[in-house]
Amino acid sequence: MQLYPFQRGIAQMMGNEEIEELWCKKSARVGYTKLLVGATQYAIEHKRRNVAIWSPSDDHRDRLTKQEIEPAIRDNPVIRRIFPWYGKKAKQNTLSLKQFVGAALHLLGGKAAKNYRSISIDMAVLDELDGFDASIEREGPPVELAWRRAEGSSFKKLIAGSTPHLKGWSMIESGEEACEVRLRWHIPCPHCGHEQELQWGGADAEYGFKWNGGTYKEATESVHYQCVHCKERITEPQARAQAAKAGRWMTDDGTIWLDEDLGIFRSEKGAAIDTPRTIGIRLWSAVNDRVPWSKIVGEWLGAQKKRDNLQSFVNLTLGESWEEEGVSNLDYEVLHRTRRENYDHPAPEGVVALTFGVDVQDDRFEIQWDGWGAHEERWTLDYQILNGDLTKPYIWKQLSEVLTRQFRGDTGRLHEPVCGCIDHGGHYGDEVVTLAKALGPLFLIPVKGAATYSKPIITWPKRPNKNGIYLVSVGTDTGKTLMHRRLMIEEPGPGFWHWPRSESFGLEYFKQLTAEELRPKHTPSGRRLVWQMRKGRRRNEPWDCSNYSLAAIRIAQERFGIALDNPDSVPSHSRRVDTTAARKSLSDLARELNDG
Ligand SMILES: [Zn+2]
Repeated sequence: MQLYPFQRGIAQMMGNEEIEELWCKKSARVGYTKLLVGATQYAIEHKRRNVAIWSPSDDHRDRLTKQEIEPAIRDNPVIRRIFPWYGKKAKQNTLSLKQFVGAALHLLGGKAAKNYRSISIDMAVLDELDGFDASIEREGPPVELAWRRAEGSSFKKLIAGSTPHLKGWSMIESGEEACEVRLRWHIPCPHCGHEQELQWGGADAEYGFKWNGGTYKEATESVHYQCVHCKERITEPQARAQAAKAGRWMTDDGTIWLDEDLGIFRSEKGAAIDTPRTIGIRLWSAVNDRVPWSKIVGEWLGAQKKRDNLQSFVNLTLGESWEEEGVSNLDYEVLHRTRRENYDHPAPEGVVALTFGVDVQDDRFEIQWDGWGAHEERWTLDYQILNGDLTKPYIWKQLSEVLTRQFRGDTGRLHEPVCGCIDHGGHYGDEVVTLAKALGPLFLIPVKGAATYSKPIITWPKRPNKNGIYLVSVGTDTGKTLMHRRLMIEEPGPGFWHWPRSESFGLEYFKQLTAEELRPKHTPSGRRLVWQMRKGRRRNEPWDCSNYSLAAIRIAQERFGIALDNPDSVPSHSRRVDTTAARKSLSDLARELNDG
């Protein structure tokens, strides 16, 4: 196979067994699939490695097998020699399996969890990763499930590649960002020698692709590149020639680069260094000699008319993730300015059921009440902070009083929360349990957070614990991800989130509500996307309270038979009333807390 300069290094990294993970964030038209097929053939033919390639769907897999894998076997006599079933109908030669002598190639659709079971491999390949579900039938992210199949191998290797889709949700982008070393294809400027990755730049940038004139013809004929450093004009033939002569895969700071002559990595000064264990690369169509720059600019001009086309251009031509416009609205000042409204009643029209969420800190409680309507449209009702000494009973008594608050609705009816969740994880677990028992353990439900990606929002325990309490596990990351998506909804209706224009919801509330972001994190069990505090933020209680309140409405729907499109399904008195027998008077509670 004839390789272009930028492809040689990728082929080397795909074949290098010391590199355990290779993440490729890429555009279309960079010859990636051919490189991948070549790398799997190499692993099978020369190393007798067992390989699995997962595609986003069965259809995608069928196309890969028929259009890429089978022709590649046909055209390569060496690989055909170790594939005696070539051209025969046999269980060793199907759409999902090619059994070679001494090695197997599994070709799997990535939708079903069963396709990640019962095979044992050395090399796990995920093709078009951003086309996969974020969690495969609730069992975990695809990369994690695939990687498990290689756990027993001494030569385990992961190759994940994709055009990125949505910013903030792109698995390839977060995986690539979390790599130890991130390499870019650098070429030296023919004028100043500055090595740079070709970048799109954009109309307002002082570097990158430039063109003249208003017409399509003028524009595409005048395309050139402006050096990041000296701002001189680089023509397309100059750039191609520089790439062929001196292009190299290198980190942006120049400290690590791939020496393609020997297939080893070197430091800035040229000393050989250890091969990085995880490498991320990025590449886009401008580096491919077969994609003329005029075509790229032509696509850009053609994409101006429609937002969808613009997203395709960003994803497929630039190989970058698409930033949803709504995401920028998560700026807390914008939320504060645009999302508060005057409610017609304390529990406005549309509210069917109420819940609350309580966050327990060492010196205070923070409580949020929410009203919920059809399709979980959400009206946050109030937010309260109870400061005090949590070692003293009075503050727990105060809490029990505020939790039974009522909110008047549009028909004059008084709404009482159906249930609420309280954080059991802090230093006051025993007190939380005592209070839950006093108020009714199906009214005040103690929860513990499980920050496992893709864990369901609530997991109801099979039986109560030794204290007689159903300690519910809350998939905090899943809940937060859902809330984040809902914050991006801009039209009232399903999933939309309202706030009242009231003192409880000042700028500080929204600042804390948006205190976290989803970032990759290295955990003992591997790389994961985890909600973490943004730089410079310290408090996030409204975000946690909102999440507990979301868990509560899920419990109400899943366990208590509440249907948000049917107000009749909500009891006129909450379950707290139904569990009166289990309730203790507040003085009993105070006594108990004093004894404890
Ligand atoms: Zn220059």
